[in-house]
Amino acid sequence: ILRARGVRKSFKHLEVLRGIDLDVSQGETVAILGPSGSGKSTFLRCVNLLEPINGGRILVDGRDVGYDVRGGRLNEVSPNELARRRRDIGMVFQHFNLFPHMTALENIIEAPIGVKGERRADAVKHARSLLAQVGLEGREDVYPRQLSGGQQQRVAIARALAMRPKLMLFDEPTSALDPELVGEVLATMKQLAEGGLTMVVVTHEISFAREAADRVIFMDGGVVVEHGTPQQVLDVPQHERTRAFLSRFL
Ligand code: ATP
Ligand code: MG
Repeated sequence: ILRARGVRKSFKHLEVLRGIDLDVSQGETVAILGPSGSGKSTFLRCVNLLEPINGGRILVDGRDVGYDVRGGRLNEVSPNELARRRRDIGMVFQHFNLFPHMTALENIIEAPIGVKGERRADAVKHARSLLAQVGLEGREDVYPRQLSGGQQQRVAIARALAMRPKLMLFDEPTSALDPELVGEVLATMKQLAEGGLTMVVVTHEISFAREAADRVIFMDGGVVVEHGTPQQVLDVPQHERTRAFLSRFL
C-alpha cells in the first residue's frame, strides 16, 4: 500500500533523505528506528504530503503522493486533490494536539463530519466504537484536560482512525508521555497492529518493535542502513551503526 523508491529530500543545502526505499503491504506494521536527526520524521512528513520531495517516488495505494505522472514526468496536483489524498493517511504525533474546548467525542467526529461530510449519527456511532477500541469506552463526554496524557494520545489515535485511513503513520507517539503511561498506548497500538491496520511507526520503544512489528528498518544519515524482521534487525544486526544504536537500549 506504500511504496517509496529512492526518496530524496533536502532543506537548502542539507540533504536529509538520501534515497529511501520502503514497501509496506496492506495490514503490515513497520517500525522505524534510528538516531535523532536521521530523517525519520522528515520521511513520514513526505509520505503524508506535508513536505514535497526532491527526488524519487512515493506511492500510496498505487498513486504518486502529491503528484501525478503525465507524459513521463511528475506534476503537482491541486490543493483540493492533495487534501483528498491526505485523507487516506492518518498521522499521530508526539504531541497529541486535541482541541481543548471539545469533548473526546467531538474531537473524533469533527473531521469525518466537517471534511468527509459523514452524517452526524454515523460519525457518533463510529466514534463510540473507536473509543472502545482504544480502551476508553464511555468516556465520550470528557474534555482533554480531564484525561491523562496516555488517554489523550489514545483519543488522538481514535481521531485519526475516524477518517478510515488506509495507512497510519505514528511519529514517536509515546515519547512525550510519562513512563507509566507509555505501556497503555503501546498496548493499544499493538492491538491495532494485530487487528490488521497498516502502520508505520517511528519509535524508540524496542520492545514494541520486537512484539508488534512485522518488519523493522534502521535509518541513519538519511538512508536505510538495515531492514528485516524484528529478530534480524534487533538480535543479529549486520551493520556496526545498528549495533552501536541498539547497544544504548541494553
Ligand atoms: P528525532 O529522532 O530527533 O525526531 P528525526 O530522525 O525525526 O530525529 P528529522 O526531524 O527528520 O530527524 O530531521 C532530520 C534533519 O533535517 C535534521 O538535521 C533537522 O535539523 C533537519 N530538518 C528537519 N526539518 C527541517 C526543516 N523544516 N528545515 C530545515 N531543516 C530541517
Ligand atoms: Mg523525529
